[in-house]
Amino acid sequence: MKSLYNEKETNKFKTDLDLRVYTSRLLGKDSSLVLHGGGNTSVKSSATNLFGEVEEILYVKGSGWDLATIESQGFAPVKMQTLLKMAKLQKLSDTDMVKYQRVAMIDPHAPNPSVEAILHAIIPFKFVDHTHADAVVTITNTDDAADKIKEIYGDKVLVIPYIMPGFVLAKLVYDMTRDVNWSELEGMVLMNHGLFTFNDNAKKSYEKTIELVDKAEKYLASKGAEYALSSEIMETSKDLLCDEELIKLAKIRKEVSDIKGYAVISVLNDSDEAIYFSKQENISQRGPLTPDHVIRTKRIPAVIGDDFKSDLALYVKEYKKYYEDNKINEIILNPAPNFALLKNMGVLSFGKNAKEANIIKDINEHTIEAILKAQKLGGYKALDAKDIFDVEYWELEQAKLKKSAIASEYSGKVAVVVDALSKEGVIATKTLKDKGAEVVVFDKKKYIDKKDIEKIIKIFGGIDIVVDGLKIFTPHSKFDFTIEEKFMKNIAEFLKLGIDSNVCELKCAMKI
Ligand code: ZN
Repeated sequence: MKSLYNEKETNKFKTDLDLRVYTSRLLGKDSSLVLHGGGNTSVKSSATNLFGEVEEILYVKGSGWDLATIESQGFAPVKMQTLLKMAKLQKLSDTDMVKYQRVAMIDPHAPNPSVEAILHAIIPFKFVDHTHADAVVTITNTDDAADKIKEIYGDKVLVIPYIMPGFVLAKLVYDMTRDVNWSELEGMVLMNHGLFTFNDNAKKSYEKTIELVDKAEKYLASKGAEYALSSEIMETSKDLLCDEELIKLAKIRKEVSDIKGYAVISVLNDSDEAIYFSKQENISQRGPLTPDHVIRTKRIPAVIGDDFKSDLALYVKEYKKYYEDNKINEIILNPAPNFALLKNMGVLSFGKNAKEANIIKDINEHTIEAILKAQKLGGYKALDAKDIFDVEYWELEQAKLKKSAIASEYSGKVAVVVDALSKEGVIATKTLKDKGAEVVVFDKKKYIDKKDIEKIIKIFGGIDIVVDGLKIFTPHSKFDFTIEEKFMKNIAEFLKLGIDSNVCELKCAMKI
């Protein structure tokens, strides 16, 4: 792993925060360090208030921001004094922590500070960088992980046993570091979670992350835990999917949508690694790489063999049991899977739209890589179900549930618009997109062949609406094949397996 820091680019920066934005983005650029909103960074600086008083401020990543694209307004400015006082409390619920951190912000319009704000505050350095680096998390998900971390870093890195993120983690680190000589430390490894580095210099803090992750990567390589699983993978041969397989994909997506209670997009990862992993039923059931992922992926995938209906029903039954076994008074989440191993075909990810499904797919790709490496390092080992449950059913996540917006009629649905450049085609495309559908457009002249359909089914999972000029087809439409043969012949079979829509609403919106 190499540093991407470029002195020339940093010359133009005037403030601490400018530099903080720059190195945060460098971390965010590398998906092996942080993924989709994961990780967080901070800088300690000062600001003069309305009364002319100078206050020490922690600018910490706001929740909802992604390190890859963060801007200065993505950092929440919180008074250091309050955060340091909070660290001394014996008890604090995460809901109260979020509430009182908001009260301690000097800009009411800024986003909520990261749940790790207190932890950032107690680290006595100006810049703090926190990532969920794949290489580090991979090693911490194996037997005797703490010994391995010690072998790699010696005493230069403080090892923090796994504990849930939020106040309890900040408290644990606060207690563990009271007598620590920080100047002798290069970083902290949080078991099953990630890495912290720190320095008064932005470049040094960032480059310490790179250096420590590089050491972890080299350690993995030295143990033969590398990605290329050539001998196992070579056995897999990959042809184009046959009709039967495509139909099965569409049926699975329909079934998952039925269980979820809303239309989902189902994206297939059929890379060699994913196909290989699809046969590793046992390892896949051990749990996620880090609890941070559980919100997106759920704890484990469904395993789908020949009988997808009963396999999915079994998943739901087992999910409910997991909930019953671990709950105190939480509200149960939707019991349908968020991803599934489809034996010999790859890994399916389900989302309420293509964006969400692809985020889950990305997380799965990193997880598969980490699991296969950990297997070569003595065996992949995830946290207990109870630890995962605590994050999945975290009070802060439960609160989000109560105010989550209801998806629109067309979100998660897949529309095909033919003759998309015609007046009607343009209107239909815009209307469907505005209503949240995933839209695939074709020029009239283009015959929709099997290859096109295969692509649609692989990246979306099905077809729910076909629009041709003023004609709108849904799963219950009667097809006149003499007129529609041009494009309906291949599509009709899949459309019948789609999810129905209220066409009146669409026609009305299109004014036809
Ligand atoms: Zn974290």
